[in-house]
Amino acid sequence: MRPIVRGTWPQNAAGQNINFKEYAYARGELIRRLGEYCSYCEMELDTSLAVEHVQPKRPPGAAQPIAARELDWNNFLLACTSCNSTKGDIDVVLDDHLWPHRDNTFRALCYSEGGLVTASTDQSIDDAIRQKADSIIKLTGLDKDPSNDDPKASDRRLQNRRETWDIAKLVKEMLARNYNEDFKELIVITARAKGYWSVWMTVFKDDADMLDRLIKAFPGTCCDCFDSTAGLVPIARAGGQC
Ligand SMILES: [Zn+2]
Repeated sequence: MRPIVRGTWPQNAAGQNINFKEYAYARGELIRRLGEYCSYCEMELDTSLAVEHVQPKRPPGAAQPIAARELDWNNFLLACTSCNSTKGDIDVVLDDHLWPHRDNTFRALCYSEGGLVTASTDQSIDDAIRQKADSIIKLTGLDKDPSNDDPKASDRRLQNRRETWDIAKLVKEMLARNYNEDFKELIVITARAKGYWSVWMTVFKDDADMLDRLIKAFPGTCCDCFDSTAGLVPIARAGGQC
């Protein structure tokens, strides 16, 4: 899960925080800052990408939406239909999970062959953080394998990650035979078009130059989550839980 910087509340020409009449009015600015990617599964999307409320605007039992949540820039991310519907209106306790806008979620989640997503087993991650990584995976359904019980094939996240993993591995082998600037740029363009930034970052984890390009190519990636003096390995995020 890509660690992102959503940034401060957008302001109008007079320097005042914009009052969003509807939460959908924040969509354009979120896309401009973060790219057209689901903040959770990292799928590349266009029209179906929606403004996501980290804390649900209408939690269970609420008679109507809570305005302080519904129109709060600091409660917004972007999400695809699958992540959005899996997460639903569960009234999350923020500190029980890791979040892409607060933590280094790439450091705490592990991407592997077959498009699988699990909590990292790296020894630098303590058990409490591992638990929170597991919680955000379950909350958004990144561990779902819908192939057996989804005849409509509406949730394509696992299949798309798997396909992207295979493409990334293939072009990495091709890059080894054609290690040049043009080919590197072509890979980055492909990564931007496919999405699943964490898959690309994992496959190219031993190539600091490619990591640098991938971090810079996806809008809003938290550069401070990577050690620029040590091969861009993921490091704990300032102010975050991990
Ligand atoms: Zn998603």
